[in-house]
Amino acid sequence: MPSWKFSSAAFYGTPDAIHKLIKIGLENSKLQSTGDLRQDFDLLVAEGKHLEADEKTHQVVSVKGLTARTFLPMPETFLLFDTTNHPDQYPDAAKEQKEKYGAVGWYDYNCLTLGTKWDFDLQEVILEEVAGWCELSFDIQTAWDYPDQWFIAINKLVPELIVSFTVLGYYEPADILDCSGEYDLCGYVEDGVIKEGLSAPGIEIWRYIIEEYYRDRNDTLDAKVIVLPNDSDDNHPVVQEMLSKGFEIVDRDPISNVQRYNTGMYFCFLKKKKKIFIDMDNVLVDFQSGLNQVSEEVKAKYYADDGKGKPHYDDIPGLFSLMEPMPGAIEAVHRLAEKYDCYILTTAPWENPSAWSDKLLWVKKYIGDVFYKRLIISHHKNLCHGDYLIDDRGSNGTSEFDGEWIQFGSTEYPDWESVVDYLLT
Ligand SMILES: [Mg+2]
Repeated sequence: MPSWKFSSAAFYGTPDAIHKLIKIGLENSKLQSTGDLRQDFDLLVAEGKHLEADEKTHQVVSVKGLTARTFLPMPETFLLFDTTNHPDQYPDAAKEQKEKYGAVGWYDYNCLTLGTKWDFDLQEVILEEVAGWCELSFDIQTAWDYPDQWFIAINKLVPELIVSFTVLGYYEPADILDCSGEYDLCGYVEDGVIKEGLSAPGIEIWRYIIEEYYRDRNDTLDAKVIVLPNDSDDNHPVVQEMLSKGFEIVDRDPISNVQRYNTGMYFCFLKKKKKIFIDMDNVLVDFQSGLNQVSEEVKAKYYADDGKGKPHYDDIPGLFSLMEPMPGAIEAVHRLAEKYDCYILTTAPWENPSAWSDKLLWVKKYIGDVFYKRLIISHHKNLCHGDYLIDDRGSNGTSEFDGEWIQFGSTEYPDWESVVDYLLT
Protein backbone atom coordinates (compact mmCIF):
# COMPACT_ATOMS: atom_id res chain seq x y z
CA MET A 1 0.00 0.00 0.00
CA PRO A 2 1.44 3.38 -0.95
CA SER A 3 2.32 5.44 2.06
CA TRP A 4 4.21 8.58 1.05
CA LYS A 5 3.45 11.91 -0.45
CA PHE A 6 5.82 14.16 -2.29
CA SER A 7 4.92 17.84 -2.08
CA SER A 8 6.35 21.05 -3.39
CA ALA A 9 5.53 24.08 -1.36
CA ALA A 10 6.21 27.76 -1.76
CA PHE A 11 5.71 30.77 0.42
CA TYR A 12 5.21 34.01 -1.46
CA GLY A 13 5.28 37.56 -0.20
CA THR A 14 7.33 40.67 0.21
CA PRO A 15 10.98 40.23 1.26
CA ASP A 16 9.93 41.52 4.69
CA ALA A 17 7.30 38.81 5.08
CA ILE A 18 9.70 36.05 4.03
CA HIS A 19 12.32 37.52 6.34
CA LYS A 20 9.84 37.41 9.20
CA LEU A 21 9.43 33.65 8.71
CA ILE A 22 13.18 33.06 8.43
CA LYS A 23 13.73 35.02 11.61
CA ILE A 24 11.24 32.75 13.41
CA GLY A 25 13.33 29.77 12.22
CA LEU A 26 16.52 31.43 13.45
CA GLU A 27 15.02 32.24 16.82
CA ASN A 28 13.87 28.64 17.32
CA SER A 29 17.36 27.47 16.36
CA LYS A 30 18.88 29.83 18.95
CA LEU A 31 20.59 31.80 16.20
CA GLN A 32 20.92 35.55 16.02
CA SER A 33 19.46 37.38 13.01
CA THR A 34 21.94 39.51 11.06
CA GLY A 35 19.11 41.78 9.96
CA ASP A 36 19.70 40.90 6.31
CA LEU A 37 17.37 38.49 4.49
CA ARG A 38 20.08 36.81 2.39
CA GLN A 39 22.52 36.42 5.26
CA ASP A 40 19.79 35.11 7.54
CA PHE A 41 18.73 32.60 4.88
CA ASP A 42 22.33 31.37 4.59
CA LEU A 43 22.55 31.14 8.35
CA LEU A 44 19.40 29.05 8.58
CA VAL A 45 20.47 26.61 5.86
CA ALA A 46 24.13 26.76 6.89
CA GLU A 47 24.65 23.04 6.75
CA GLY A 48 23.05 22.67 3.35
CA LYS A 49 25.00 22.34 0.15
CA HIS A 50 24.57 25.25 -2.27
CA LEU A 51 23.73 24.11 -5.78
CA GLU A 52 23.52 27.54 -7.22
CA ALA A 53 23.87 31.01 -5.83
CA ASP A 54 23.50 33.96 -8.12
CA GLU A 55 22.12 37.44 -7.93
CA LYS A 56 18.52 36.45 -7.53
CA THR A 57 18.42 32.78 -6.54
CA HIS A 58 19.74 30.89 -3.59
CA GLN A 59 19.26 27.18 -4.05
CA VAL A 60 20.25 24.73 -1.41
CA VAL A 61 19.96 20.96 -1.25
CA SER A 62 20.34 18.48 1.57
CA VAL A 63 19.63 20.92 4.33
CA LYS A 64 20.60 19.05 7.41
CA GLY A 65 18.38 19.81 10.30
CA LEU A 66 16.04 22.27 8.58
CA THR A 67 12.69 20.70 9.31
CA ALA A 68 9.06 21.56 9.82
CA ARG A 69 9.81 21.94 13.53
CA THR A 70 12.42 24.60 12.83
CA PHE A 71 9.48 26.97 12.38
CA LEU A 72 7.08 25.27 14.75
CA PRO A 73 8.97 23.71 17.66
CA MET A 74 7.53 20.80 19.57
CA PRO A 75 6.83 21.61 23.24
CA GLU A 76 9.39 20.05 25.56
CA THR A 77 6.86 17.90 27.39
CA PHE A 78 6.50 15.65 24.33
CA LEU A 79 10.24 15.10 24.26
CA LEU A 80 10.61 14.48 27.98
CA PHE A 81 7.84 11.93 28.49
CA ASP A 82 7.10 8.94 26.29
CA THR A 83 3.37 9.42 26.57
CA THR A 84 2.98 8.06 23.04
CA ASN A 85 3.87 4.52 24.07
CA HIS A 86 3.35 4.62 27.82
CA PRO A 87 0.71 7.20 28.77
CA ASP A 88 -0.07 5.23 31.93
CA GLN A 89 3.46 5.68 33.23
CA TYR A 90 3.21 9.48 32.98
CA PRO A 91 -0.39 10.28 33.95
CA ASP A 92 0.35 13.86 35.05
CA ALA A 93 2.21 14.68 31.81
CA ALA A 94 -0.48 12.97 29.72
CA LYS A 95 -3.20 14.98 31.45
CA GLU A 96 -1.35 18.24 31.02
CA GLN A 97 -0.60 17.52 27.35
CA LYS A 98 -4.23 16.75 26.66
CA GLU A 99 -5.44 19.89 28.39
CA LYS A 100 -2.82 22.23 27.02
CA TYR A 101 -2.23 20.88 23.51
CA GLY A 102 -5.19 18.60 22.80
CA ALA A 103 -2.90 15.63 22.13
CA VAL A 104 -1.19 12.99 24.25
CA GLY A 105 2.29 11.98 23.08
CA TRP A 106 4.50 13.25 20.24
CA TYR A 107 2.77 11.02 17.70
CA ASP A 108 -0.67 12.54 18.22
CA TYR A 109 0.84 15.99 18.55
CA ASN A 110 2.54 15.62 15.16
CA CYS A 111 -0.65 14.39 13.53
CA LEU A 112 -2.50 17.33 15.02
CA THR A 113 -0.02 20.09 14.23
CA LEU A 114 1.77 18.82 11.11
CA GLY A 115 -0.93 16.70 9.53
CA THR A 116 1.54 13.84 9.25
CA LYS A 117 3.12 11.47 11.76
CA TRP A 118 6.77 12.57 11.65
CA ASP A 119 8.65 15.78 11.56
CA PHE A 120 9.96 16.26 8.00
CA ASP A 121 12.98 17.78 6.26
CA LEU A 122 12.86 20.68 3.84
CA GLN A 123 14.82 19.85 0.68
CA GLU A 124 15.98 21.87 -2.33
CA VAL A 125 15.28 25.10 -0.54
CA ILE A 126 15.21 28.07 -2.88
CA LEU A 127 15.03 31.73 -2.01
CA GLU A 128 14.24 33.96 -4.94
CA GLU A 129 13.79 37.70 -5.03
CA VAL A 130 12.61 39.56 -8.08
CA ALA A 131 11.11 43.00 -8.38
CA GLY A 132 10.01 43.38 -4.80
CA TRP A 133 8.59 39.89 -4.82
CA CYS A 134 10.01 37.02 -2.82
CA GLU A 135 9.53 33.27 -2.87
CA LEU A 136 10.80 30.62 -0.50
CA SER A 137 10.20 27.18 -1.97
CA PHE A 138 11.18 23.62 -1.16
CA ASP A 139 10.30 19.97 -1.59
CA ILE A 140 9.09 17.67 1.15
CA GLN A 141 8.31 14.00 1.55
CA THR A 142 5.86 13.03 4.22
CA ALA A 143 4.41 9.86 5.53
CA TRP A 144 0.76 9.12 4.74
CA ASP A 145 -0.43 12.54 3.75
CA TYR A 146 0.74 15.99 2.85
CA PRO A 147 1.32 18.31 5.84
CA ASP A 148 -1.80 20.42 5.62
CA GLN A 149 -1.76 21.36 9.30
CA TRP A 150 1.79 22.64 9.09
CA PHE A 151 0.86 24.86 6.13
CA ILE A 152 -1.99 26.26 8.19
CA ALA A 153 0.37 26.87 11.10
CA ILE A 154 2.79 28.81 8.86
CA ASN A 155 -0.09 30.85 7.50
CA LYS A 156 -1.03 31.74 11.06
CA LEU A 157 2.57 32.59 12.00
CA VAL A 158 2.97 35.02 9.09
CA PRO A 159 -0.52 35.76 7.74
CA GLU A 160 0.80 38.08 5.02
CA LEU A 161 2.53 35.14 3.30
CA ILE A 162 0.82 33.19 0.58
CA VAL A 163 1.30 29.51 1.30
CA SER A 164 0.90 27.34 -1.78
CA PHE A 165 1.52 23.66 -2.41
CA THR A 166 1.30 20.93 -4.97
CA VAL A 167 1.12 17.29 -4.04
CA LEU A 168 2.44 14.58 -6.28
CA GLY A 169 0.77 11.17 -6.41
CA TYR A 170 1.45 8.50 -3.86
CA TYR A 171 4.54 6.50 -4.35
CA GLU A 172 6.92 4.32 -2.46
CA PRO A 173 10.38 5.94 -2.23
CA ALA A 174 11.80 3.15 -4.40
CA ASP A 175 9.33 3.91 -7.18
CA ILE A 176 10.21 7.57 -7.59
CA LEU A 177 11.07 7.11 -11.26
CA ASP A 178 7.51 6.06 -11.94
CA CYS A 179 6.16 9.49 -11.08
CA SER A 180 3.83 10.51 -13.86
CA GLY A 181 4.12 14.22 -13.30
CA GLU A 182 0.42 14.36 -12.60
CA TYR A 183 -0.52 15.97 -9.35
CA ASP A 184 -3.02 14.75 -6.85
CA LEU A 185 -3.95 18.23 -5.96
CA CYS A 186 -2.76 21.76 -5.55
CA GLY A 187 -3.92 24.44 -3.26
CA TYR A 188 -3.16 27.27 -0.94
CA VAL A 189 -4.00 28.47 2.52
CA GLU A 190 -6.20 31.44 3.16
CA ASP A 191 -7.16 32.70 6.61
CA GLY A 192 -6.03 29.43 8.15
CA VAL A 193 -8.12 27.29 5.80
CA ILE A 194 -6.78 24.91 3.14
CA LYS A 195 -8.24 25.61 -0.29
CA GLU A 196 -7.64 22.62 -2.48
CA GLY A 197 -7.51 22.87 -6.21
CA LEU A 198 -7.80 20.50 -9.07
CA SER A 199 -5.84 17.57 -10.33
CA ALA A 200 -3.90 18.59 -13.42
CA PRO A 201 -0.42 18.74 -14.93
CA GLY A 202 2.00 21.27 -13.50
CA ILE A 203 1.33 24.26 -15.70
CA GLU A 204 -2.41 24.05 -15.16
CA ILE A 205 -1.82 23.99 -11.45
CA TRP A 206 0.31 27.07 -11.65
CA ARG A 207 -2.29 28.87 -13.69
CA TYR A 208 -4.89 27.91 -11.17
CA ILE A 209 -2.83 29.12 -8.25
CA ILE A 210 -1.88 32.35 -9.95
CA GLU A 211 -5.46 33.06 -10.94
CA GLU A 212 -6.84 32.23 -7.53
CA TYR A 213 -4.24 34.24 -5.68
CA TYR A 214 -4.09 37.29 -7.78
CA ARG A 215 -7.65 37.77 -8.90
CA ASP A 216 -8.45 40.03 -5.98
CA ARG A 217 -4.95 41.32 -5.44
CA ASN A 218 -4.18 42.68 -8.89
CA ASP A 219 -4.92 46.24 -7.95
CA THR A 220 -3.03 46.21 -4.69
CA LEU A 221 0.23 44.44 -5.47
CA ASP A 222 3.04 46.47 -6.98
CA ALA A 223 5.00 43.48 -8.22
CA LYS A 224 3.76 40.32 -9.87
CA VAL A 225 5.01 37.16 -11.42
CA ILE A 226 3.04 35.62 -14.24
CA VAL A 227 3.65 32.00 -15.13
CA LEU A 228 2.86 31.05 -18.72
CA PRO A 229 3.49 28.07 -20.98
CA ASN A 230 7.10 27.94 -22.07
CA ASP A 231 6.44 28.89 -25.70
CA SER A 232 5.03 32.26 -24.58
CA ASP A 233 6.60 35.67 -24.97
CA ASP A 234 5.83 39.28 -24.10
CA ASN A 235 3.01 39.32 -26.67
CA HIS A 236 0.97 36.90 -24.60
CA PRO A 237 -2.45 38.51 -23.92
CA VAL A 238 -2.01 38.25 -20.15
CA VAL A 239 1.30 40.13 -20.31
CA GLN A 240 -0.17 42.72 -22.66
CA GLU A 241 -3.09 43.23 -20.31
CA MET A 242 -0.72 43.88 -17.42
CA LEU A 243 1.27 46.36 -19.52
CA SER A 244 -1.94 48.26 -20.29
CA LYS A 245 -2.64 48.42 -16.54
CA GLY A 246 0.54 50.40 -15.88
CA PHE A 247 3.02 47.56 -15.33
CA GLU A 248 6.44 47.18 -16.86
CA ILE A 249 8.42 43.99 -17.39
CA VAL A 250 11.52 43.85 -15.22
CA ASP A 251 12.67 40.31 -15.86
CA ARG A 252 11.90 37.18 -17.85
CA ASP A 253 12.81 33.64 -17.06
CA PRO A 254 12.03 31.11 -19.78
CA ILE A 255 12.65 27.59 -18.51
CA SER A 256 12.37 24.83 -21.07
CA ASN A 257 11.88 22.04 -18.59
CA VAL A 258 11.12 22.40 -14.94
CA GLN A 259 11.71 18.91 -13.66
CA ARG A 260 9.63 19.26 -10.59
CA TYR A 261 6.59 20.38 -12.59
CA ASN A 262 7.31 18.16 -15.58
CA THR A 263 6.77 21.01 -18.01
CA GLY A 264 8.29 24.17 -19.42
CA MET A 265 7.32 27.59 -18.16
CA TYR A 266 7.78 31.22 -19.01
CA PHE A 267 8.07 33.40 -15.94
CA CYS A 268 7.42 37.07 -16.50
CA PHE A 269 8.15 39.45 -13.65
CA LEU A 270 6.33 42.74 -13.65
CA LYS A 271 6.43 45.81 -11.54
CA LYS A 272 4.00 48.67 -11.35
CA LYS A 273 5.31 51.79 -13.02
CA LYS A 274 5.43 55.02 -11.07
CA LYS A 275 2.47 57.24 -11.84
CA ILE A 276 2.77 60.72 -13.34
CA PHE A 277 0.01 63.26 -13.81
CA ILE A 278 0.60 66.03 -16.32
CA ASP A 279 -1.20 69.35 -16.51
CA MET A 280 -2.22 70.81 -19.88
CA ASP A 281 -2.26 74.61 -19.90
CA ASN A 282 1.26 76.02 -20.11
CA VAL A 283 2.71 72.52 -19.58
CA LEU A 284 1.62 70.37 -22.54
CA VAL A 285 -0.25 73.20 -24.23
CA ASP A 286 0.99 76.66 -25.16
CA PHE A 287 -1.93 78.76 -23.96
CA GLN A 288 -0.65 81.94 -25.60
CA SER A 289 -0.48 80.25 -29.02
CA GLY A 290 -4.26 79.84 -28.90
CA LEU A 291 -4.83 83.36 -27.71
CA ASN A 292 -2.68 84.71 -30.54
CA GLN A 293 -5.23 83.36 -33.01
CA VAL A 294 -8.17 85.15 -31.41
CA SER A 295 -9.21 88.52 -32.80
CA GLU A 296 -8.80 91.67 -30.70
CA GLU A 297 -12.52 92.15 -30.95
CA VAL A 298 -13.29 88.86 -29.26
CA LYS A 299 -10.55 89.36 -26.68
CA ALA A 300 -12.01 92.74 -25.76
CA LYS A 301 -15.30 91.03 -25.00
CA TYR A 302 -13.59 88.79 -22.44
CA TYR A 303 -11.73 91.58 -20.76
CA ALA A 304 -13.01 93.46 -17.81
CA ASP A 305 -16.63 92.53 -18.14
CA ASP A 306 -16.53 91.00 -14.68
CA GLY A 307 -16.01 94.42 -13.21
CA LYS A 308 -12.61 93.57 -11.75
CA GLY A 309 -10.53 94.67 -14.68
CA LYS A 310 -9.10 91.19 -15.21
CA PRO A 311 -9.15 89.32 -18.47
CA HIS A 312 -10.80 85.89 -18.45
CA TYR A 313 -9.75 84.73 -21.88
CA ASP A 314 -10.04 81.09 -20.91
CA ASP A 315 -13.81 81.50 -21.20
CA ILE A 316 -13.51 82.18 -24.95
CA PRO A 317 -15.41 79.39 -26.72
CA GLY A 318 -13.21 77.22 -28.92
CA LEU A 319 -10.01 78.77 -27.57
CA PHE A 320 -8.53 75.48 -26.35
CA SER A 321 -8.80 73.86 -29.78
CA LEU A 322 -6.53 76.51 -31.26
CA MET A 323 -3.53 75.95 -29.00
CA GLU A 324 -0.20 74.47 -30.05
CA PRO A 325 1.86 72.01 -28.01
CA MET A 326 4.61 73.43 -25.81
CA PRO A 327 8.13 73.03 -27.26
CA GLY A 328 9.40 69.48 -26.69
CA ALA A 329 6.18 68.35 -24.96
CA ILE A 330 5.12 65.66 -27.44
CA GLU A 331 8.50 63.97 -27.59
CA ALA A 332 8.90 64.24 -23.80
CA VAL A 333 5.65 62.45 -22.96
CA HIS A 334 6.46 59.65 -25.38
CA ARG A 335 9.76 59.11 -23.60
CA LEU A 336 8.22 59.34 -20.13
CA ALA A 337 5.47 56.86 -21.04
CA GLU A 338 8.05 54.15 -21.59
CA LYS A 339 9.05 54.26 -17.95
CA TYR A 340 6.06 55.78 -16.22
CA ASP A 341 2.31 55.29 -16.05
CA CYS A 342 1.17 58.67 -17.42
CA TYR A 343 -2.13 60.52 -17.16
CA ILE A 344 -3.24 64.01 -18.04
CA LEU A 345 -4.69 65.91 -15.08
CA THR A 346 -6.08 69.27 -16.04
CA THR A 347 -8.74 71.74 -15.04
CA ALA A 348 -11.21 73.24 -17.51
CA PRO A 349 -12.94 76.59 -16.93
CA TRP A 350 -16.32 76.15 -15.27
CA GLU A 351 -17.90 78.87 -17.42
CA ASN A 352 -16.58 77.54 -20.73
CA PRO A 353 -18.18 74.18 -21.62
CA SER A 354 -16.42 74.04 -24.99
CA ALA A 355 -13.07 73.95 -23.16
CA TRP A 356 -13.98 70.53 -21.72
CA SER A 357 -14.56 68.99 -25.13
CA ASP A 358 -11.77 71.02 -26.78
CA LYS A 359 -9.29 69.50 -24.33
CA LEU A 360 -10.35 66.00 -25.29
CA LEU A 361 -10.07 66.82 -29.00
CA TRP A 362 -6.63 68.38 -28.44
CA VAL A 363 -5.32 65.29 -26.66
CA LYS A 364 -6.71 63.03 -29.41
CA LYS A 365 -5.11 65.20 -32.10
CA TYR A 366 -1.62 65.48 -30.63
CA ILE A 367 -0.97 62.63 -28.19
CA GLY A 368 -3.89 60.25 -28.40
CA ASP A 369 -1.52 57.30 -28.62
CA VAL A 370 -0.07 57.97 -25.17
CA PHE A 371 -3.17 59.26 -23.41
CA TYR A 372 -5.94 57.10 -24.83
CA LYS A 373 -8.65 57.21 -22.12
CA ARG A 374 -6.13 58.79 -19.75
CA LEU A 375 -7.56 62.27 -19.52
CA ILE A 376 -8.74 63.50 -16.12
CA ILE A 377 -10.43 66.89 -15.85
CA SER A 378 -10.86 68.07 -12.29
CA HIS A 379 -10.76 71.09 -10.02
CA HIS A 380 -9.46 68.82 -7.23
CA LYS A 381 -6.12 67.46 -8.42
CA ASN A 382 -5.21 66.40 -4.89
CA LEU A 383 -7.80 63.61 -5.14
CA CYS A 384 -5.56 61.82 -7.66
CA HIS A 385 -2.87 59.71 -6.04
CA GLY A 386 0.47 59.17 -7.71
CA ASP A 387 4.18 59.79 -7.62
CA TYR A 388 4.55 63.03 -9.63
CA LEU A 389 2.40 65.90 -10.80
CA ILE A 390 3.90 68.15 -13.47
CA ASP A 391 2.05 71.42 -13.21
CA ASP A 392 2.90 75.09 -13.59
CA ARG A 393 0.60 76.33 -10.83
CA GLY A 394 -0.27 75.23 -7.31
CA SER A 395 -3.98 75.92 -7.65
CA ASN A 396 -6.90 73.45 -7.94
CA GLY A 397 -5.35 71.01 -5.47
CA THR A 398 -1.87 70.82 -7.01
CA SER A 399 -0.08 72.14 -3.94
CA GLU A 400 -1.88 69.50 -1.81
CA PHE A 401 -0.96 66.62 -4.15
CA ASP A 402 0.38 63.67 -2.11
CA GLY A 403 3.29 62.91 -4.47
CA GLU A 404 6.00 65.23 -5.71
CA TRP A 405 4.93 68.43 -7.47
CA ILE A 406 7.29 69.24 -10.32
CA GLN A 407 6.63 72.90 -10.98
CA PHE A 408 6.90 73.39 -14.71
CA GLY A 409 8.28 76.80 -15.67
CA SER A 410 10.09 77.27 -12.37
CA THR A 411 13.81 78.01 -12.19
CA GLU A 412 14.46 74.34 -11.46
CA TYR A 413 12.24 72.98 -14.24
CA PRO A 414 12.01 75.75 -16.85
CA ASP A 415 11.20 73.44 -19.79
CA TRP A 416 10.53 69.84 -20.86
CA GLU A 417 14.21 69.06 -21.28
CA SER A 418 14.88 69.70 -17.60
CA VAL A 419 11.82 67.65 -16.54
CA VAL A 420 12.83 64.67 -18.68
CA ASP A 421 16.41 64.91 -17.41
CA TYR A 422 15.14 64.75 -13.86
CA LEU A 423 12.71 61.86 -14.38
CA LEU A 424 14.78 59.67 -16.69
CA THR A 425 18.24 59.97 -15.19
MG1 LIG B 1 -1.46 74.93 -16.02
